[in-house]
Amino acid sequence: MSMNSRPTAKALFFWIAIIFLGVMLWKLVSPSGTATSQTRTGDWTLLLLNAAPLILLMGFCIFLIRQMQRGRTRFAGAASPAARTGIGYDLHRLEYGRPLMVGGVEIPFDKGPIGHSDGDVLAHAMCDALFGAAGLGDIGTHFPDTDPKWKGANSLLFLEHARKLLDEKRFSIEHVDAIVILEKPKLGPHFPKMREALARALGLSADHIHLKAKTNEGVDAVGRGEAIAAHVVATLSQR
Ligand code: MG
Repeated sequence: MSMNSRPTAKALFFWIAIIFLGVMLWKLVSPSGTATSQTRTGDWTLLLLNAAPLILLMGFCIFLIRQMQRGRTRFAGAASPAARTGIGYDLHRLEYGRPLMVGGVEIPFDKGPIGHSDGDVLAHAMCDALFGAAGLGDIGTHFPDTDPKWKGANSLLFLEHARKLLDEKRFSIEHVDAIVILEKPKLGPHFPKMREALARALGLSADHIHLKAKTNEGVDAVGRGEAIAAHVVATLSQR
């Protein structure tokens, strides 16, 4: 039964019962030259015997419909405030002779990102997505690039810290989806290791993390191989 048909079904049950009772009452009170007091008593008994199951059936149907409506309201009330989404973006310039760190994994290449930490764009964008979903500011708030403590730091530490903050606010990470944009080299073969490293830092299984790679079709600084960028969307639920 669809949601729209429920009021119609209730009305139908109601009017069937009313018509049935009306017919029975009319039959009972209508003048009848042959009716005796015994016949009328029999009619009352017949009326009660026939109407009672119908009324019980109507009541049961209305009870079921109300229970379903209450359940749906509870589900909607519980789910809507718990699901939260955050977006993160990062870009770093590339320079010859630096290690190329992406998703906590060093990729063999002749260029790597310039940054205060290890310049891992994927980890940085992921932090921003998680902080954004939890309403906790951005990566610069928690790990300022003026703090010498983070100079050359492994960016997986940022994700581990983000995870602790999310735990404190009773957030669970449902899913993380990411795109890394890099002209060269190909990242696909390194995705399994990246997913494992990221998942370990976040205390998840790797199937919560989805990675994709794109080139920039030779356009702009990323397309010329001068920079690497990442976009991440994270979905959280609150316990
Ligand atoms: Mg960065």
